[in-house]
Amino acid sequence: MDQLPYHDILYNDAPIGPYPSHLLRRVPEPTNRVPGPVERKDQRSSVFARSLLGEFGEELEREFKRMTVRYPVGGALVDLQNHINLYPRRANPVAKKKAPIPTDPRVLSRHLKSLGHFLGADIVGIGPLPQSAVYSHDMKGREIDAPYPWAIALVVRKHEPTLCASNGWEEIVDGASFQVYQRVALQTEAMANYIRRLGWNAVATNMNSYVTLMPQIALDCGIGEVSRMGIVLNPFLGANFKIAAVLTDMELEADGYADFGLQDYCASCTDCADQCPSHAITRGKQTLYNGYSTWKLNDRVCSDFDILNKEGCVCGRCTKVCPWHRPDMDGRDFAGWDGDLGWLHATVDEQRARNRANGYVDPSERTDKWWFALDEVDGELVVPTGRNPQKICREYPLQR
Ligand code: SF4
Ligand code: SF4
Repeated sequence: MDQLPYHDILYNDAPIGPYPSHLLRRVPEPTNRVPGPVERKDQRSSVFARSLLGEFGEELEREFKRMTVRYPVGGALVDLQNHINLYPRRANPVAKKKAPIPTDPRVLSRHLKSLGHFLGADIVGIGPLPQSAVYSHDMKGREIDAPYPWAIALVVRKHEPTLCASNGWEEIVDGASFQVYQRVALQTEAMANYIRRLGWNAVATNMNSYVTLMPQIALDCGIGEVSRMGIVLNPFLGANFKIAAVLTDMELEADGYADFGLQDYCASCTDCADQCPSHAITRGKQTLYNGYSTWKLNDRVCSDFDILNKEGCVCGRCTKVCPWHRPDMDGRDFAGWDGDLGWLHATVDEQRARNRANGYVDPSERTDKWWFALDEVDGELVVPTGRNPQKICREYPLQR
């Protein structure tokens, strides 16, 4: 189909979205080594799933089930999510005839990225979908079949003022994650629905129903590089985001793997490991895990801390203190960026210096905490007693 003049944005190189992802250096392989083979995972094998299924004992099962809802902001978001899930998940059928639109993969990729930003995503990336990223079985033990060649990853940034006011493991931290999970889930459901209306197969993978391992999707869609935290970090948002994706057979164009020097940066920085209250992050070197070279998180220790945290709810301390998390910067601050890695690293070093000067932004006396400290005990909301904000620091001494 011929180019139409008012569709120039789909045919030119103009930036799409608030962050200059198009200027990132792209490489043909992930920057962390992948000697392989990478095996498919069963969704029931994650530590969160095993806690939910009671494999680690009654206390972890019970506390996991009330983890988000025991704080009322989290509870309100979960109620809304359950309401949405009451709808039978009947996907609209794929249109019998393909819509009369261009089929050039580059044009379609720019179109879907624009749609992702229209729906509210901060960053959108596209990559191939390896079958190793697809779960072998779901939580009910049913085999998962997802024969789609492409993934479109949508990324949404968490609410910065809230994270800045929090120490990283207070009760609002879980709600702050859940709120973003929910938004990006709705965005991916709308995008998958739209693609089916155009006549291609598409399915969403998000908190409603994860079909895939999201860290691998993030890596393969060029969202970022693997960090010491064991998760993918984006050069503009740090790891302060949540991600969901759409899988499709619409032929698209891959962004390629991102390379902004994170492997070297994390090799000489241990701030997240120093500040992790449960010491779940290694200060050592990368090791081989399921075919990947990575800094392997002690996910059982991190998960237990999340679930049993009585000084708040869950934890995100590592993502908060990482110097790539620059809460005072947004897309406008990168408007003049020309892809210079020296400048990118300099802004991270500046943030690191600020973190250290502020005691890793530990906001013990912040005056902008807008949420109430509440907990649910025997069905009633109570003000937690005996809570000592410094207690957790004594039990899990933080490094300076
Ligand atoms: S979420 Fe908290 S406990 Fe888990 S690795 Fe990060 S800082 Fe450590
Ligand atoms: S805190 Fe430092 S080591 Fe940890 S992920 Fe961030 S840059 Fe890497």
